[in-house]
Amino acid sequence: MWKDNDDKIMGILDSIETQNKGCFPVVCPICGEKDGHLYFHRNRDGDEKGSMWVWCGKCYHFAHALCRLPKWWKNLDKINFEELTSYPNHLEENKFCIDEWINKLNALYNH
Ligand SMILES: [Zn+2]
Repeated sequence: MWKDNDDKIMGILDSIETQNKGCFPVVCPICGEKDGHLYFHRNRDGDEKGSMWVWCGKCYHFAHALCRLPKWWKNLDKINFEELTSYPNHLEENKFCIDEWINKLNALYNH
């Protein structure tokens, strides 16, 4: 079901670097539906690098990579690390909480 053959999905990452922070879900750069999501995972407190997933819940394009994490990032307690794989199945199941969490972190960080 998941497709990792289009790098345009990485455009979702831009959503946290522009002025329009705090607006997840974002428009998917591939299919245009407002179902684009983002999640980071920090392995240990203080780690600068971790994992990143971007995905769309409509067309199922996704990307998973190691990356430098934003300073403000905190893992969401609800996400079970044991269930994280390169595919965002577990993340898609929790996308509403994830969107809410990112929007909240972004709002806090902007103050
Ligand atoms: Zn899409």
